[in-house]
Amino acid sequence: MVLKGMMTRPSGSHRDHLVMAAIALSNQLAPGFSNGVRYAPPDDPDEAVAIANELCDRFYQKQVQFVPTEVERLAVLATRLHGVFLDLARRDLPTAVPKINELLSEYPARLHLSSEPPWSLHYQDHAVTAVEGWQIGCCAALASWISSGATQYISRCQAERCDRVFFDDTRSGTRRFCTPRCQNRDKVRAYRLRQAIAQSR
Ligand SMILES: [Zn+2]
Repeated sequence: MVLKGMMTRPSGSHRDHLVMAAIALSNQLAPGFSNGVRYAPPDDPDEAVAIANELCDRFYQKQVQFVPTEVERLAVLATRLHGVFLDLARRDLPTAVPKINELLSEYPARLHLSSEPPWSLHYQDHAVTAVEGWQIGCCAALASWISSGATQYISRCQAERCDRVFFDDTRSGTRRFCTPRCQNRDKVRAYRLRQAIAQSR
């Protein structure tokens, strides 16, 4: 067993922000389950793009903006990233790694350092579309996380009918739920289960 404390702890670098953005993109724009119900991202391209721009802006303010004409590619990227995160949450690296390599191979990387402090390694410049830039950036950052063991911090919500993923930044590494709502749902479910067992005796 590998202890999380022995890994390279994410430090808030540009690389780490890209992974956080990838987690947020996959949670908001990949279909699946969330908080006990089936989850579907918004159908309206303007709305989907606005969500992506707003959340990516939290992690990198100089980003190229997503535009409605690339919304289908954005949805595909979010879905593929979500699949990778579910693999990583299961610690299934042999499945995750080829998917990341495939995503990386689809567009050329343009490695460069930022032109001003804090000096950080960037994977794309501003000459490419948002989907292309975020695909390379997120996957290069994830590849770097894998090579440093930091993917131990990626987890999937343990609540019933929820497959959202999150970065477990607790010291103990024991966070189990994506949100307090899922945590509360799980508590209620466990309580009802105990009640049912008690009544059946
Ligand atoms: Zn959840």
